[in-house]
Amino acid sequence: MLDLIIIGAGPAGLSAAEAAVEAGLDYLVIEKGTIANTIRQYPVGRAMFSTPNEVEMHEGTLKPVREKPTREEMLSHYIHFVLDLDLRINTAEKVISVNGNIHEGFAIKTDASEYKARRVLFAIGAMEKPRHLNIPGEDLPKVHHLFVEPYAFVRKDALVVGGGNSAAEAALFLSEEGARTTLAIWREDWENRDPKAGAMKHWVRTPLEAEVEAGRLKVVLYKHVDEMRETEVTLTTETGESLTIPNDVVFVLVGSDADLTLLKQLGVQTEAGKLAEVPVYDPETFETNVRGIYVAGHFTHARHIKAAIDVPRRIVPLIARELKSKS
Ligand SMILES: Cc1cc2nc3c(=O)[nH]c(=O)nc-3n(C[C@H](O)[C@H](O)[C@H](O)COP(=O)(O)OP(=O)(O)OC[C@H]3O[C@@H](n4cnc5c(N)ncnc54)[C@H](O)[C@@H]3O)c2cc1C
Repeated sequence: MLDLIIIGAGPAGLSAAEAAVEAGLDYLVIEKGTIANTIRQYPVGRAMFSTPNEVEMHEGTLKPVREKPTREEMLSHYIHFVLDLDLRINTAEKVISVNGNIHEGFAIKTDASEYKARRVLFAIGAMEKPRHLNIPGEDLPKVHHLFVEPYAFVRKDALVVGGGNSAAEAALFLSEEGARTTLAIWREDWENRDPKAGAMKHWVRTPLEAEVEAGRLKVVLYKHVDEMRETEVTLTTETGESLTIPNDVVFVLVGSDADLTLLKQLGVQTEAGKLAEVPVYDPETFETNVRGIYVAGHFTHARHIKAAIDVPRRIVPLIARELKSKS
């Protein structure tokens, strides 16, 4: 019987693992992908929006070449954090069910093994379920819901659908690297200048507008995409016209949601958050309504990397104190 199982090895899970070591807990992190799997899925070479102090595991330990770290510098930082502390992490192992209760302990089943733990911390992020448009042709092999690199699409007709920073960055990177790119975006997103309302960052918008100005990138203000076919896409513009454009590749980047299935199966309640459905939890302890089940990171109200790192440092010592008072 372990003291604590942590599901997910993103910034939240890694921070929790270190806190578990410091609190003397017998713990294990289970990660379905790799260390910092979400960050590994960022576009190649991407610079973070955040400065080092907002994403590093300890002050002064992330030293990017420029002001903001790149995806690669981030990955190296988190990997060396794990190696230096020799954290216990099983990668390439997916948790498929969690059952039990605080009195008898929890049974954690993965696609490789089974474990028992007195407490479980879900640090599963919010990338599991990319949102779909649910239109005909969206299942074609040329349609992607994640953008990693532009280099395969030089001189191809690329369509990016979405209004946030991920879509804007993908359109920018594709256009800069020679793809004939169209960005389909709603007017309200294109005109949004409010950073608090998720507006495109200005350092993305400025070069994006330069690409438009130079005639390399086309922006289509659209109402909805109607159909994707092998060689073209049909969409309806904001003025109601049907537009068919030649197309080799599509990126649908309209956000993603956490998979809350395991939590719900345990009886954890959820509520509507500002941007997505979130589990109900105590804001001090991050314990859910199911005793012994905790949450941290991007699928809670504490969404950014800084909060994902800070919260486990507060709550894991509380878990340790409670466990020690019982043994
Ligand atoms: C393109 C992009 C750019 C971003 N840029 C920034 C930025 O500049 N600054 C910033 O602060 N934030 C940024 N974010 C958000 C940032 O990535 C998240 O806030 C951060 O990753 C949250 O950390 P986390 O540990 O909560 O979740 P994650 O990093 O998502 O980690 C969750 C982990 O859980 C694993 N997992 C999930 N389910 C299971 C399961 N059943 N079994 C085992 N493992 C499981 C996943 O594989 C994943 O590794 C960006 C996000 C994206 C997508």
